[in-house]
Amino acid sequence: MKIICIGRNYVKHAQELGNEIPTEPVFFLKPDSAILRPGNIFFLPDFSNDIHHELELVVKINKVGKHISEKFAHTYYSEIGLGIDFTARDVQKQCKEKGLPWEKAKAFDGSAPIGKFVNKSEYEGKNLIFKLLKNGELVQEGNTKDMLFSIDQIIAHISKYITLKKGDLIYTGTPAGVGPVTINDRLEGFLFDKKLIDFKVK
Ligand code: ZN
Repeated sequence: MKIICIGRNYVKHAQELGNEIPTEPVFFLKPDSAILRPGNIFFLPDFSNDIHHELELVVKINKVGKHISEKFAHTYYSEIGLGIDFTARDVQKQCKEKGLPWEKAKAFDGSAPIGKFVNKSEYEGKNLIFKLLKNGELVQEGNTKDMLFSIDQIIAHISKYITLKKGDLIYTGTPAGVGPVTINDRLEGFLFDKKLIDFKVK
């Protein structure tokens, strides 16, 4: 399986990093070795002094598809969840300055914690509200109504370039409020009031 992440999908987040507002979805990949499954601890890597949390709504692809039209994109996923797109912000900044790819900053081991999934049918037609607590304090809150590109638009766009397969995960972009994590932090992510992700940083 592969992980596809959308960048700059919320205007306020693009602005907080001083990025332009994109005219089409920006995406990048993480390998399967980036996954951190529920029950595991996230260990801070030694090559960065500025690891940021990015809480994102995640969709799990349920069948193979290429050139998926926006109209049918909703049939390609049935489960949603929450994940963290951990980013070595200092390394990413260096990559951007040199015009280099971001993988060192984004695709490292453990950089894609994933939580429990829920059936999307429970939430059909609703704007999804999700939030991240760091040590019990609210740090990020997102609402899918603020996405620049909807889940269906994202699936249609990615599948023009890359075949989607069953089990692939799409991280749909972070809302504003990204920030650093340090040793002993606890991160808890909620979809509405349902806790889907909960782990510690060491
Ligand atoms: Zn992200």
